[in-house]
Amino acid sequence: MIVSKFGGSSLADASQIQKVCDIIIANSERKVVVVSAPGVRTANDTKVTDLLIALGKERLSGSDGEVLFNRITERFSDIAVALRIEDVLPVIKKHISDTVSQPVSNPDRFMDAVKSLGEHCCARIVAAYLNRIGIKAKFCDPKEFGLLLSSTFGRIRVLPKSYEHLSKLRDVEGICVFPGFYGYTPEGEIMTFSRGGSDVTGSILAAAVEAQVYENWTDVDCVYAVNPKLVNHPFPIREITYAEMRELAYAGFTVLHEEALYPAFQKGIPVHIRNTNNPSRDGTYIVAKRSVYDSLVTGIAGENGFCTLNIKKYLMNREVGFAVKVLSIIADEGLSFEHMPSGIDSISIVLRGSDFTIDKEDRIVDRIRKELNIDDVFVHRNLAIVMIVGEAMANTVGTTARAAQALSKAGINLEIINQGASEISVMFGVREEYCNYAVRVLYNEFFNK
Ligand code: ASP
Repeated sequence: MIVSKFGGSSLADASQIQKVCDIIIANSERKVVVVSAPGVRTANDTKVTDLLIALGKERLSGSDGEVLFNRITERFSDIAVALRIEDVLPVIKKHISDTVSQPVSNPDRFMDAVKSLGEHCCARIVAAYLNRIGIKAKFCDPKEFGLLLSSTFGRIRVLPKSYEHLSKLRDVEGICVFPGFYGYTPEGEIMTFSRGGSDVTGSILAAAVEAQVYENWTDVDCVYAVNPKLVNHPFPIREITYAEMRELAYAGFTVLHEEALYPAFQKGIPVHIRNTNNPSRDGTYIVAKRSVYDSLVTGIAGENGFCTLNIKKYLMNREVGFAVKVLSIIADEGLSFEHMPSGIDSISIVLRGSDFTIDKEDRIVDRIRKELNIDDVFVHRNLAIVMIVGEAMANTVGTTARAAQALSKAGINLEIINQGASEISVMFGVREEYCNYAVRVLYNEFFNK
């Protein structure tokens, strides 16, 4: 059995939905289909999810949001009319209207319910179209199939019993069309993942039904070794491990949601990235263990928006529990840290600037000064993280030296260097203005020589 997830660009209009359905029909193993909300049709278009977010906000501010409501329902009408499944429209329109008109007791839950409408309606449309062309398909409601979610410290997690509930998808007659991006709290309220979260739904479903492969259909032929916006004709990756992909996703590869690999990884299900607009291409396989090594470095990525909290204290290495005390102050502010390079008398904690707000910085720095008797504490903002990632690096001498030398020859100052214990990645901290340049320099070093 194959679980296939289709992203927003694959479902942006009726002709894209027809391509999706052709792909579904082409292999009878494609039994579970997860859909995103319709994405952009042209460069200036707006994703349905973004329209829904704007509509939800208008409703919360007391406006009726009529213009947005009409734009959203028109997008679904256009698709349904072109696919000749107008019968589905009254159900969709009523569902949108009921959801946005419901009384608001919790604004977060209200926004999540409104955001989920894109995937909900799109799944209804795909199921209706498959049935119209004679392929038995069922719209599978995440509530009916027990996709239960909870939120801890703002992170959405799937409740373990969901997997057992969702394994029942195997018994559904015909194709299951499942909306991505949302599930339900145990209290029965809608909860969405973060943006791009339909990838996570697909992975959860693949794990639940123990699929032979989780196909993730998008609008690129494969994953490339570097962002194609930075380098012309970048090196294509045929095969990559979960661990490599996780590191690259973390540092800015946006092909897949950062949290989407975990459920598939736990069950060892390969993830296959494919292009809806070019289904004959090989795509990229994300696997537990690679058999293909085309290059020493698998990928290079860079991401802005980090900062460091730097602490100096003489004889820090002798002080039992110093790092624990620092981290507990950070944890008290609800922050998780990204990296923690250290010296004998200093420690730097790398945090995401969007979480480490100025308010939090003031409180944390104040407590560190008052409670930890330190020599100095200061924050550097506007830092970028650039990573080179590759399983083959662990067995090759001199990769870090090569990378550092290339960056130094290019005049890029390294604020931080960090290598994880797995030796599959090396992270360089550089000023944000050097991020893209550093990525290109490293790409030239490892792929163009
Ligand atoms: N529609 C949602 C978004 O635009 C979720 C998804 O597409 O995966 O983020």
